[in-house]
Amino acid sequence: MPTEDTSIPIALLRDVGDALLKRPGAKVCDPLTQKPIVGLSTEYCLTVYVAGERGSLSWRVTEPIKGDHNSCKPSFTVKDDDYPDSWVWVVGYIHNHPCAATPSSLDLAAWPTDKFDPYVAMAEVRLIPGNPAPATYKNTAIEMASALVAERQDGTRVFLRYFSTGEVQQWSDANARWMTLGTCAPRGENSLSPTPRCDHEPLKLLSQ
Ligand SMILES: [Zn+2]
Repeated sequence: MPTEDTSIPIALLRDVGDALLKRPGAKVCDPLTQKPIVGLSTEYCLTVYVAGERGSLSWRVTEPIKGDHNSCKPSFTVKDDDYPDSWVWVVGYIHNHPCAATPSSLDLAAWPTDKFDPYVAMAEVRLIPGNPAPATYKNTAIEMASALVAERQDGTRVFLRYFSTGEVQQWSDANARWMTLGTCAPRGENSLSPTPRCDHEPLKLLSQ
């Protein structure tokens, strides 16, 4: 797939959604509590990266790693069959939420934008930390983002992506574009609430 988007494209997310949501437990949600079921609901994580030469980057993903009912851990290093490490940029990860919940504090903290204390603040820029030069397609730098795929009980799919700067977006079929739901930051390691702190609370999914 040619790289035209500056971060995770919807076409890639749809393909990943098709694959992830077929896996055992990926859509299992308690209909009464709207909570994942321990031992049945299962999250899967896969790493998203771009690889190739300037002008011909392609979006790629790793094989999914199985987690448990409320978390999964992506690998942050990848080995690509076609390109050496210096032509590979990890830009984020994709996982499923069995009950179509918005990103958790842990999700937002998973990309350590501040290695010493990820709970203090989100990054100011969306470029890939630790890389001497960001991946660029023509003259546009690829931005870090992670994403969530889910299926509601009525069978409709939800695609969310969130940036290292904290914006959470949902793909809108009606508008054919990403809509920003709010800007969030992890609530802090000692907080009892799994939901992040957002400028619009609670973060509401688009109804479509
Ligand atoms: Zn999550």
